[in-house]
Formats: sequence, structure tokens, C-alpha cells
Amino acid sequence: MPATHTAQSASPVPLLDLKAQYATLRDEIRDAIERVMESQHFILGPEVSALEEEVARYVGTKHGIGMSSGTDALLAALMAVDIGPGDEIITTPYSFFATAGVIARLGATPVFVDIDPSDFNIDTTRIEAVITGRTKVIMPVHLFGSVVDMDPIRALAKAQQITVIEDAAQAIGARDEQGRSAGIMSEMACFSFFPSKNLGGVGDGGMTVTADDELAERLRMLRAHGSKPKYYHKIVGGNFRLDALQAAVLRVKLPHLDKWTEARRRNAERYRTLFSERNLNASATLPSDTPGHIYNQFVIRAPRRDELQRFLAAAQVGTEVYYPVPLHMQECFAYIGHKEGDFPHSEAAARETLALPIYPELNDAQLTHIVDTIAKFYEKN
Ligand SMILES: *Cc1c(COP(=O)(O)O)cnc(C)c1O
Repeated sequence: MPATHTAQSASPVPLLDLKAQYATLRDEIRDAIERVMESQHFILGPEVSALEEEVARYVGTKHGIGMSSGTDALLAALMAVDIGPGDEIITTPYSFFATAGVIARLGATPVFVDIDPSDFNIDTTRIEAVITGRTKVIMPVHLFGSVVDMDPIRALAKAQQITVIEDAAQAIGARDEQGRSAGIMSEMACFSFFPSKNLGGVGDGGMTVTADDELAERLRMLRAHGSKPKYYHKIVGGNFRLDALQAAVLRVKLPHLDKWTEARRRNAERYRTLFSERNLNASATLPSDTPGHIYNQFVIRAPRRDELQRFLAAAQVGTEVYYPVPLHMQECFAYIGHKEGDFPHSEAAARETLALPIYPELNDAQLTHIVDTIAKFYEKN
């Protein structure tokens, strides 16, 4: 009989194992889905309202407005402050595409500011230099679950009457060094419930949160074609509604979020220990360990990144490159006129970073296997 299990072939470690989480909540999630099925109320309704209140309370703000995705949450937030052609929105070139995509879709121009290489977030010291009379919004992204230093942004925005919108898609539950939650340090903040986010639904979903009653009202109108009351349209919106099935499942998961975040933080700590035990700190750079980081992704900088990724794949370890092409180098933004070298820190990050598995249910054998494989790669090479 051939050996099915050798020292070489430890069990595979995917980048994210959603089945492991589902296994712990199967009955509750099925009950929630059943409840929606029996109600036959699928769009907005009581499940969505309840989730909106629960998320707003969790984040520490007044209103939550459920949206069809994180992307639509951002789009609606920009629409709520009438963003359109001629307007400039300051943001980072090192993020998921949606951050800049929503700006361009409204005919506005993304104005990029390079990142701080220590945490991959927008370098707040470079923002003032690109503010013009057309700057309407500053949109920082709390990338990978690490909160941007918001005070300098808020000070600039206040002085120049600019709106701040947090792209908090990867940052639900994250806090800054003073313990303030992502989502309460701006006029509006946007979360994503895409399945790979820390609070993930069973499909697409998102939420815009705000403490401002008028913006909340506008956001509620915008997600339903700008109507209020039904069939009377003062503004043009879209269909950005969150559905009840997503809300019901997310309501099961939300009470577990802090526990999952703790497990992610423990895994990050374990990586730090394992990396230093194997003397890997000279080879790879680990993400900075800020207290409120929620590690939606655990992103290292690694020499010969692509080779390392292939080596890990051969050892059945899933990884991902977030993101291989910075936004200013995307073909669709060629019209903005950027060239390679314009944002060197973002370009370096795109070349050097690799996300390792960090999901809460990872066990110690898996973490050890990952780090041992990385150690083997750098030993050999
Ligand atoms: C996931 C994500 C989005 C978009 O969210 P979707 O729910 O996938 O539409 C926007 N910005 C960032 C930074 C994200 O990671």
C-alpha cells in the first residue's frame, strides 16, 4: 500500500478555510436561513434593520445602512455628498480596486498619495500637498485591518471643508492606538461583508455607517433609487439594498466577531514567535504589531516573493498577493497619466508582499508547517 501520509505532505493549509468556521455555526446559520425562508421577506425588512442597529452599536455610531456590497457602500457614500465630474478624491494607490473604481464610476478623479511602507496605509504627511480647490473627499483605507492615523486627516479636512469617508471594508472591529473604532472617525465609513472579510456573509453585502442623521437619510434613499416615498424620486440612486438572507446570517456571526479577532491576533503572535525562533526576521518582514490590528490579512514582505509563493503552494500552503498591480498602474486609469516610479512605496509593496493564512481556526501544526516551509525556502536559497 502506498504511503498516503509522509512528513513531506502535511495536510493542506488554505489561505482561508470558511468551512471550518461554518462547522462551528451550522445549526444557527441554518435556523437563520430557515427564518427568512418562512418569512418570504427577502429585501430589507426586519432582519436588515436589526443588523443595521447591531453593527452601528458594535462600531459605536448612530446609523447603519445595509448595502448590496462594500463597493456599493462606498459608491453610495460618495453619491451622498454629490460627487461627480471635476471632483477630486484623495486616496491610496495600494488597495483593492473598488476604492478607486467607485470614484471613477462617478466621473470624479482619484488623486493618489503613496503609502507609508511601515503599515501599507496612506502616508498622511503627503496629503496636504495634493489638496486643490477641487478636492471634495479624502478616502483613507484601513488596509488589511490596520487603522489609518486619522487625526492629521481630520485636521486637514476640517480646515478645508473636505468630507472624510473611511474605506473600512477590511477593518470591522479594528481600533487605532487610542482605542477608537474604524468607522467613527469620519462622516461616513463603509464595511464589506464579502465572505473573506472578518465578518463575511453567504454572498455579497456591505454597510455604510454614519453618525449624521441627514446623511443616513440620503443613504437610505440612494440605496432604493433615490425614492422617498416609494415612486417619488428627488435624486437618482441605485439598487444598493442588502438582502434579508445576508443580514440574518451576519446577525448569527456578529456576536462571534471579537472572539475570531482574538484568534487572528493570537495567530499573528504565534507567527512572530515562530519567525524569530527560526531566525527568519532577516529574510522576511512581518506586519507591524499595533494593538487594534484585526488582521483581515497577515501580510509579510518577502524577498523573491513569487518563488516563495510557488514553494509554499508546492507544500500545499495557500497564499495570495494583495495586490500585484497598484491602482495608478491599472490600464483603466492610464488616462490619469501616471507612470512607474510615481508611487515607489506602493510599487515596492506590490512586488514584495505575500498574505499568509491567518484565519481564526488555524491550528498550531498548520502555523508551524507554514513557517517551517518558509524557513526551508530561505535555507535552500
Ligand atoms: C473588499 C473591499 C472592498 C469592496 O467590498 P465588496 O464587498 O467586495 O464590494 C472595498 N475596499 C476594500 C479595501 C476592500 O478590501
